[in-house]
Amino acid sequence: MGDINKQAVLASPLDESMPHPDSFHIVESNIPDPGDGEFLVRHIYVSLDPFQRMALSGRYSFAPGTLGESGVPRAETVGQVVTSRHPDFNEGDYVTHFGGWQNYSLSDGSEAHKVDPQRAPLSTYLGVLGMPGLTAYASVVKLADIQPGQTVLVSAAAGPVGSTLGQIAIQLGGRAIGIAGSDEKCAYVKDEFGFADCINYKKENYVDRLKEACGDGVDIYHDNVGGQMLINAFSVLKNYGTVILCGLISGYNDPSQHKGLPLGLPLIKRAVIKGLIVYDFKDKYNEYLDLAAPWVTGGKMKYKEDRAEGVENAGAQFCKLMRGENFGKTLVVVGSE
Ligand code: NDP
Repeated sequence: MGDINKQAVLASPLDESMPHPDSFHIVESNIPDPGDGEFLVRHIYVSLDPFQRMALSGRYSFAPGTLGESGVPRAETVGQVVTSRHPDFNEGDYVTHFGGWQNYSLSDGSEAHKVDPQRAPLSTYLGVLGMPGLTAYASVVKLADIQPGQTVLVSAAAGPVGSTLGQIAIQLGGRAIGIAGSDEKCAYVKDEFGFADCINYKKENYVDRLKEACGDGVDIYHDNVGGQMLINAFSVLKNYGTVILCGLISGYNDPSQHKGLPLGLPLIKRAVIKGLIVYDFKDKYNEYLDLAAPWVTGGKMKYKEDRAEGVENAGAQFCKLMRGENFGKTLVVVGSE
């Protein structure tokens, strides 16, 4: 084919501290040929997601950290089929699958889904209309059963899960309040995503500001962070409120931050606490897409992306995500559309 496959691979095993770009290096290999029942995908976008951190160091994840023996971190990709020996996938089809941090990969179709670039921009199938969007939908609609007039509080509100979740709540007649890590993120959450308020948790008097913003309290808290953020949220939860446990990012690079939740907090609030794993809701994906794709293309639901260019920069972009410095859905652009 006259081209090579660049792969970002782990240079050394990750310990429990903050990963460094040097933890990854680039190797080059031949582009693989599909066998019977396989097809070759040229990647366009690679998704970087917080869960990859735990998977890469073998901590409580439901998916392996790397692809087979290659050492290439496992990640969802959007790409185009180049050659196919699979009956259901044809040359030119656009697909999402777990192609990893590289330019090309093979698929047997088992985790691949065709996506339509006419329906929505290709990159959105990794963000607002992809796994993070489905996570938000599963939380606020399927688990918390939000009702018109209810208020949802969400942490990491400027990210793909948080920003999508607040906007779904708003579209369904609810109200959203966000928590985020900078004034710039908070302003965007309010002005662009339409949240009623957003509190910068890195500022002094954060808990007082949170109580002020939440007034009589919130009906639902969606937790993307864990640790002290989760503990603080109970101070603004209404009695009989719902808490959805979705992410523990405060502890991904520092497990000492996994502070135990004092059980008196949910007891006093008579709270309902539910854990969320998005893969339980795979069968709700088309339902979500039918609902949200018109919102996205009609401008009712906004999204923000934080892009890097080239497989060479995947490691540095992942480290930026781990430092909380990403602003929007974290992507690496590795090919042209
Ligand atoms: P984001 O793009 O929102 O990235 C993570 C954000 O977390 C950062 O930008 C940062 O924003 C915030 N953050 C808060 N505390 C920390 C910290 N100590 N270190 C680093 N970042 C911090 O990610 P997603 O929207 O993709 O995911 C949000 C959460 O949902 C993650 O915890 C993820 O693991 C989880 N998740 C869980 C799923 C499930 O099935 N249970 C499925 C998908 C995602 P800020 O500046 O605001 O602090």
